Amino acid sequence: MTRRIVVVGAGQAGMLLALGLQRHGYEMTVIAERTAEELRTGRVISNQCIFERALQHERSQGLNFWDEKAPPVNGIAFGAGQPGVPEPVIRWESPLEQPAQSVDQRLKMSDWLTEFARRGGEIRHDRVEPDGLAALAREFDLVLVAAGRGPQFGRLFARRPELSPFTGPQRAIALMYLTPNQPEFYQGVTFALAPDGEWFSLPVLSVTGPVYGVYFSGYLGGPLDCWDDIRDVEHFFEVATKAVDRHFPWLAPILRNTAPNGPLDYLKGKVTPVVRDPVGTLDFGAKVLAMGDTAVTNDPIAGQGANMAAHCAAAYQQTILDQGDRPFDEEFMRRAFDRFWQTAKHAVRFSNDLLSPPPPHVLATFQAAQENPVVAHRFAALFNDNSDYTAWLTDEKVAMAYLASLA
Ligand SMILES: Cc1cc2nc3c(=O)[nH]c(=O)nc-3n(C[C@H](O)[C@H](O)[C@H](O)COP(=O)(O)OP(=O)(O)OC[C@H]3O[C@@H](n4cnc5c(N)ncnc54)[C@H](O)[C@@H]3O)c2cc1C
Repeated sequence: MTRRIVVVGAGQAGMLLALGLQRHGYEMTVIAERTAEELRTGRVISNQCIFERALQHERSQGLNFWDEKAPPVNGIAFGAGQPGVPEPVIRWESPLEQPAQSVDQRLKMSDWLTEFARRGGEIRHDRVEPDGLAALAREFDLVLVAAGRGPQFGRLFARRPELSPFTGPQRAIALMYLTPNQPEFYQGVTFALAPDGEWFSLPVLSVTGPVYGVYFSGYLGGPLDCWDDIRDVEHFFEVATKAVDRHFPWLAPILRNTAPNGPLDYLKGKVTPVVRDPVGTLDFGAKVLAMGDTAVTNDPIAGQGANMAAHCAAAYQQTILDQGDRPFDEEFMRRAFDRFWQTAKHAVRFSNDLLSPPPPHVLATFQAAQENPVVAHRFAALFNDNSDYTAWLTDEKVAMAYLASLA
């Protein structure tokens, strides 16, 4: 029996699942707001650093079209600064076990959409409102809502307060792509903390070729919450240059001898972290299943959202395959989400904790990492697999005992 499945939203989560199931013979439909061309030529979407475990899922599906061209993201360079001090007070670098990768989602989604159509997938260009899901639920065996973050499907997928400590955004965020990706820049993730916010930068393969993605994250109402009145990319660059000089002075050389990559290569906004009930019930009783950011939205501070979107696609794909000819009922949907949650719960904890100033045992860990590459390596590995975060750094006694054992 051919199962007909529709995915609403052509992003990291939805496209990866659609292409993956298509490979297994499912009749797949994707509802995409934008065409491949519109995606490619539109505004930048993300910094999308994807680490090894999540990349592995794309590779296992043969969807790693950019491995030869994407600059490898080889490690993590950490720095913690203090106002008025030009050099970071704590600084270390550590290689990743396997390189991560950042392929501009404009390029990736546009290529994946094109490939999906080439392999016979159906694409409908439309924006689905919550009311429009009923018609889809009547037409398809399974409706997946992979429409990204934000409140648009919030009434359908209820916020789970016990898993969502924040009721609003915690940071003002801003992203810019710079060109060129200078060889003297650190060719990994540069992750910096300052009292008023954070910085996350890395080499990216964009639509135009290699660029350098710079991400600012500022405490609300603080001096790094400075993006509201930005007029255009030049203005953005000017404000960013002042911000880096003041808050991350050791990273200021990155913005010298460089320029924004294009007029649409900047983004600003705020993200509310939230975990939702992934099963939505339509008026006539049919159930729909949320995925990716629609189900679990993290603040981008730890670079986990696109990774989780890929893990969600992997978990849902396996659960759908396991389901065979049995109905896609609520029990199936909860099983699919639970499989994803075993990974996502650690990313949620890691991301949410980073939104608060680091407690003393985490500061002690950063300090120890400066002296001891083993500690640095263990922390760097958290971005790829954050299950160790829960086991290690959420418990002060465990964290301090670990440091003592190394001494
Ligand atoms: C500035 C920034 C930096 C980031 N950096 C990183 C990082 O380094 N690493 C990382 O892992 N994550 C990062 N993220 C997060 C990451 O981009 C997202 O978590 C990830 O893209 C989520 O994938 P998704 O498929 O769930 O949603 P999305 O990527 O948002 O895709 C949803 C798709 O659905 C479409 N859509 C929306 N509404 C509708 C509708 N009603 N009907 C039809 N289509 C619709 C949208 O157009 C979009 O194509 C960052 C995010 C931001 C904003």
